[in-house]
This record gives sequence, structure tokens and C-alpha cells, in this order.
Amino acid sequence: MKDDLIVVCGGGGFIGGHLVADLVRQGHRKIRSVDVKPFDEWYQHVPGVEDVQLDLQEREACERALAGAHTVYNLAADMGGMGFIENNRALCMLSVLINTHLLMAAKKHDVQRFFYASSACVYNADKQRDENVTALKEEDAYPAMPEDGYGWEKLFSERMCRHFREDFGLITRVARFHNVYGPLGTYEGGREKAPAAVCRKVIQAKLAGKHEIEIWGDGKQTRSFMYIDDCLKGIQMITASDIIEPLNLGSNELVSINQLVDIVEGIAGIKLKRNYNLSAPKGVNGRNSDNTKIQALLNWQPNIRLRDGMEKTYRWIYEQMTAKK
Ligand code: NAD
Repeated sequence: MKDDLIVVCGGGGFIGGHLVADLVRQGHRKIRSVDVKPFDEWYQHVPGVEDVQLDLQEREACERALAGAHTVYNLAADMGGMGFIENNRALCMLSVLINTHLLMAAKKHDVQRFFYASSACVYNADKQRDENVTALKEEDAYPAMPEDGYGWEKLFSERMCRHFREDFGLITRVARFHNVYGPLGTYEGGREKAPAAVCRKVIQAKLAGKHEIEIWGDGKQTRSFMYIDDCLKGIQMITASDIIEPLNLGSNELVSINQLVDIVEGIAGIKLKRNYNLSAPKGVNGRNSDNTKIQALLNWQPNIRLRDGMEKTYRWIYEQMTAKK
């Protein structure tokens, strides 16, 4: 219903900001967007939305945030790309406080639907040793050997959602995102992920006329990247669905980091000398999303090709960087 209160936690961030804007576009009239960051650091402020600054690691803040809520999307987490999560395991694990306190508040306020943003980092590392990886199916999360820190927190919080559903009847839905990218997200400062980092490095090289790029690892590691618009559609379909188990939400267009750099070089119209930093964090060797389940159950599949999504992302980052300059 368009007048039910929807609360987006992490609404000052990349995915949360886009979700708020998308809900407004669809005609939802009561939206509360909550984030710990000061307002001037939010990627989006959408007119008509109640923006609130709260630290959702605190139990009382979660109770305030969810008062009167019908639907809750939890996209709040202390996170970033590989460089951040490999070096900040304790901070990543502290996000457990956010989801735990939000679930408790959701139970207290009789929230009708609760969405949790999990991650492909929950998957067993043994299944991701090869660059020519077999795409990950939902059951590959167990036996558990997720990404240290960040992945363990995600797996635990997924489990917490499950037990709140089973024991308390709270309707919880979980998606495991595989690398989401697009405009209006982090591209510098240490929390950026590969697509934004590659765009920034290529733009820096282009603007400085120094045609070199540093690549983390040997560039042969493989990943899939999902454009934000596909992600938003998937989040809302999963939340509205009756599917109780966590579902993959990702692209299955597998590329190596070298191929990602090729794409961005093509968009920028330059060729760079590649310097490989083999001691930089690079994560697992290969990771792809098996979308069999979500396609069969919800008929969802990614629509935006990597080249097209990267073009939009590159343009936005280019505008930000040249405006700053
Ligand atoms: P983001 O960092 O842009 O957004 C997260 C937001 O949460 C930030 O704005 C941050 O300020 C906020 N936050 C952190 N701690 C908070 C707190 N204590 N109280 C209130 N707000 C707090 O990241 P994103 O890419 O938009 O990710 C959203 C969610 O999706 C996260 O849970 C993330 O783990 C998950 N995820 C993202 C990706 C991806 O590729 N972007 C992949 C897998 C999972």
C-alpha cells in the first residue's frame, strides 16, 4: 500500500539511496530513510522523504527508526570493497549489532516485512579457489567457511533473520548480493569496490596524462557485477515474495578484473600500462552467481550488460572528479 511506512536503513549509502529514490518514483508516500552519516555525506536526498540521522548499532535508535513501520529494508552496514573488509574485520562484524537491534525493534513494532541485504561473501571459500569458478548456488554457503569477518557477520545475520521468522513469526527475506555497482556510490577513500575503483584510476590516468594503472592482484581473478537498477528490482521482488530462504541476487556475466579494465579503457578511449600489485587485497580467485533459483521462482534476471552499466558509472564518476578539480 502506498501509504504504509517504509523504512530504509542505510538510506544515505549507495544501494539504500537508490532504493529510496525508486520507492518514491513508484508512488510510495511515506518513507523514512535512516543513516549514521551526517546529511551532507548522503549520496541522495529525495524530496518528501523523512531523512533521519541515527546510529543503528544502538538498540534505542533502532526502536525510534522503526516506530510505525510496515516494511523495513536493512541496507545499513559498515562495509566497503576488499581493501576495507580485509583490513577492518572487527568493524565489519560490529554490523551484527545493526541487524540484531533492527530485528528486535521490528518484532516490538510488529513490522510486516523485513528485508536483509546479505552478500556473496557468505559462500564457502573452498568453492571459489579457481578463476574458472562454477557459479555459486545457494546451498554452497554450507558447510560454512565464509569471508573472514564480513562474511561471517552476514551469515550469522542471515541466520538471525531465519530464527526470528521461525520463532517469532516476523516475515524476513534475504538476498545475497553479488557486487553491485552504479552511479551515486563510493569511488574513493578506501571503501570503494572494483568497478568504481577502476573507473577512478582510469579517469585519474586520463586527466593526468600518465597512462598507467595499478591493478590489485594479477588481474586474472574473476567476478560478476550487477548494475544497481537490476538490484533494486530484485530487492523489491524478493521482499514481496513468499521465498523464505536466502536467494542469490547478482549478475552471471563473469569477467576477470583485466577484462573489466579493458571495458573501462574502451569507454575512456585510452590504453594504459598495467602494473600488478600482487600484495594488495584481492579476495577469492573466482566468484559468480548461479541464478537458477531466482529465475525459476521469481523470473528475475539481470537486464543490464556490464559495458552499458559501466558507461553510466564512468560518466558519473568522471563528472564528480572533474567538478572537484
Ligand atoms: P554503503 O556503504 O554505500 O551503504 C551502507 C550505509 O550504511 C552507509 O551509508 C553507512 O553510513 C550506513 N551505516 C553504517 N553503519 C551504520 C549505523 N551504525 N547506523 C546507520 N547507518 C549505518 O554500501 P552499499 O553498497 O549501499 O551496501 C548496502 C548493503 O548491501 C550492505 O549491507 C552491504 O553489506 C550489502 N552488500 C553490498 C554489496 C555491493 O556490492 N555494494 C555487495 C554485497 C552486499
